[in-house]
Amino acid sequence: MLIKNAFLSDGTPADVWVYEGSIRAIGQNLTIGDPEVIDAAGRTLLPGFVDLHCHWRTPGFEYKEDIATGSRAAAAGGYTFVNLMPNTKPVCSSAEQARAVMDKAREVGLCGANQTVSITENFDGHSVARLLELPDDIKFITEDGKGVQSSEVMARAFAICREKGITLMSHAEDMDISPWDYRLAENIETVRNLHLCEYYGTRLHMCHVSTKEAILAISEAKARGVNVTCEVTPHHLWFHDLDYKVNPPIRAAEDVAALVQAIKSGYVDAIATDHAPHSAEDKANGMAGMVGSETAFGVCYTKLCLQEGLPLPLLENLMSRMPAAILGLEKKGEIRPGFDADLVLVDLEHPWTVDAANLHSKSRNTPFDGVQLYGRVCLTVCGGKVTHRDL
Ligand SMILES: [Zn+2]
Repeated sequence: MLIKNAFLSDGTPADVWVYEGSIRAIGQNLTIGDPEVIDAAGRTLLPGFVDLHCHWRTPGFEYKEDIATGSRAAAAGGYTFVNLMPNTKPVCSSAEQARAVMDKAREVGLCGANQTVSITENFDGHSVARLLELPDDIKFITEDGKGVQSSEVMARAFAICREKGITLMSHAEDMDISPWDYRLAENIETVRNLHLCEYYGTRLHMCHVSTKEAILAISEAKARGVNVTCEVTPHHLWFHDLDYKVNPPIRAAEDVAALVQAIKSGYVDAIATDHAPHSAEDKANGMAGMVGSETAFGVCYTKLCLQEGLPLPLLENLMSRMPAAILGLEKKGEIRPGFDADLVLVDLEHPWTVDAANLHSKSRNTPFDGVQLYGRVCLTVCGGKVTHRDL
């Protein structure tokens, strides 16, 4: 495949030659054999996006999303790899269950996937001994959807992860406090986990950071060398004071400003969607979360690049290069010869309007319905194969 007449994120004109799943050459006016030619027509080519935080609801909640529809939604959003959360039914507490999901994702073939495993067994809040027996290919554990409430249990998990080279991902929520003050709940558990990370020297990743206090605590920890990374979501950057149920909640304007400032200062490692599909009925019954795969780039490009002046290569870092590095995906996240042919072509010129009815996800729960954005995904290539085309 030869993608012609594209621009890279820094504005360099480029053709990109893809062969047998890899990027083989980048240059101008490339002519190679008789490839399938895709005319980018001056649009911008980025490395496929990597989502550190995604819910495909398999097993147990396939009526909200399944691996096929989740993959389809990811591809439509320009994603070529996602990191899946374990709050399924049953909870993903074993390597066997994780591998079954990853095998199925490979079979669907539209988007790469890593399935994380829970910190405590079946989210029971205390059993961490089985972490000692996890095989070496399980590198990420998380209790996403809730926090581990006991500091002692979390400390034991950190100690085991240090021995095994596992990264803990933290959904920071003190669940005794969140019913009456979710801001305090996030702030307390963020600071606790930063201290545990520093104490054990174990790598920690803070999910969906949403308050100015939490991002400040993380920034200070990073500045003194703590082994922590963090992500923010598109919806916590776009909305403030919006009554739409999501955990952590939509915050205040000053929190959004603090997150944007932290991005500009280089304290935020990644944008992650927290793609959380729910049926209309579940949503009406108060389930938290929104779908996000298909709106993430448009939201971030419009907010961060157009409104806040962030250079596009920095957004590319947040959506591709850094999340790939955090996941240890050595040949992903950059457009470079020898790297996997995971690519996304985006139209930065023409506005488009989000229409929830046209999403590829099985669920429609999004407060972005009707919002006008720039940065439309026109083509996604994953492993050299076109997985989404809307040229
Ligand atoms: Zn979460």
